Amino acid sequence: MGYPIQLVGLEGKRVLLAGGGPVAAEKIVPLIHAGANVHLVSPEVSTEMEEWLPKVWRFDRRPVRDEDVAGAKVVVGATDDLAVNARLVEVARGLGILAQAADDKPNCDFYSPAVVRRGPVVMTISTDGGSPMLAGQLRRALEAAVPRSVTDVAELLVRLRERGMKGLANRGRMLRALFDPSITRLVDQGDTEAAADRLEELFHEEEEPFEPGTVSVVGAGPGSRQLLTLRALDRIQRADVILHDALVEPEVLRLALPGTEIVDVGRRSKAVCPDETPADAQRIPLMIGYAREGKRVVRLHGGDPYVFGRGGEEVDALRKAGIAWEVVPGVSSVIASAASAGTPLTLRGVAKGFTVRTGHDTSGPTRGELLPEEETVVVLMGLGAAESVLAELIAEGRAPGTPAVAVSGASRPDEQIVVGTLATLAAKIRAAELPAPATLIVGEVARAALDLADASAGHENDHGTHRPVRGDKTTAAAV
Ligand code: SAH
Repeated sequence: MGYPIQLVGLEGKRVLLAGGGPVAAEKIVPLIHAGANVHLVSPEVSTEMEEWLPKVWRFDRRPVRDEDVAGAKVVVGATDDLAVNARLVEVARGLGILAQAADDKPNCDFYSPAVVRRGPVVMTISTDGGSPMLAGQLRRALEAAVPRSVTDVAELLVRLRERGMKGLANRGRMLRALFDPSITRLVDQGDTEAAADRLEELFHEEEEPFEPGTVSVVGAGPGSRQLLTLRALDRIQRADVILHDALVEPEVLRLALPGTEIVDVGRRSKAVCPDETPADAQRIPLMIGYAREGKRVVRLHGGDPYVFGRGGEEVDALRKAGIAWEVVPGVSSVIASAASAGTPLTLRGVAKGFTVRTGHDTSGPTRGELLPEEETVVVLMGLGAAESVLAELIAEGRAPGTPAVAVSGASRPDEQIVVGTLATLAAKIRAAELPAPATLIVGEVARAALDLADASAGHENDHGTHRPVRGDKTTAAAV
């Protein structure tokens, strides 16, 4: 079997090349590329060879002699005289020097392969000296198949190795980072240095926790996978099992990696109502069962889990079962539909707020008016005037003990949550010096958060039996 000469260290080594015709011209290409000091000896040179003359280390315009061989690292006989070539090989072998006589297989210690280069990537094709024509054909096929951009990616990977980022354990992260849109954009722009910096940043980014035995309640958005959040995608791709609604589009489910168990828990699915039992009664135990088996469970909702999605009941059940959970918000159809329709939900001088109602109310038809305790009120831009905003909500007929939550910097690293009631929240916000931007959520829906804050008053970071993944970052105790 022949070995590709490019992979022999020829950099700065003297290589004797005898011959100046087209065959020798072919032989010189990989030698020059390999950085060899080519000592060319030939009484004449063809036009093909002439091009290379400026790159040869030394050119002697005369017939080759035995003495030329001594001291060479490699010898290539490519004159048009087979006997001359064979003689050079014989002398070289006598001196323990690798040698090759062109088109003379028995007199070859190595063969010159066909080469495809993409930056630091070198692909060589050898046919064991049998068919240079086939090798050439394969080279053209490879040339066409391997994109030029591989050069940039290869250079990026070489830099990463230089920065010490390697190792099989990190292969998945490396590949994911490599295909991050910010990286591909920088590579396309030819800014390999910036791409390497960004890649290093991504590489060292802490992976968010998603431990076995926990449940991530994830919003999948309204349909298109383009409206998934990056965190939703991450959980979907790390899940052992995904329990999904009928509303979740197949194109979203196809993002799950092979081997992920995917269970339809939609209202009419077999998994949750084999015998006409109400779906919720089946869905929640199923979810808890998977978590107790030590699986990473994703409970995937259409839109957002907390908007008419039963996310509230599910989290409540997980809390009670002592199972760690988190909620990953999704783009609700409330928001997505407005965008699709080109209809703003608020508009200066036209609409000062909006209401989301259900057309399918189990306790009867949707009423025009909701009772104060039936309605969640979300206030944006209300931090500065929290005092009067909360007082007005009481004046409208809400109980002063109605739970109320202020969320500052939701999802940001400095996120802070203050829990209280309509009566107490303003003082707590002041005491906590809660920074903008913040959103207030008022309503019975926050009762569990309030109880939890009560329970943990005086026990910093102790939230009872469950171990939250990211939930319950309450900073101030209630009432
Ligand atoms: N949690 C979901 C809502 C679930 S209730 C969310 O936040 O979007 C189901 C209702 O949501 C549907 O009956 C429909 O009114 C609405 N919905 C869900 N997906 C939708 C979509 N892609 N376009 C318009 N409405 C949608």
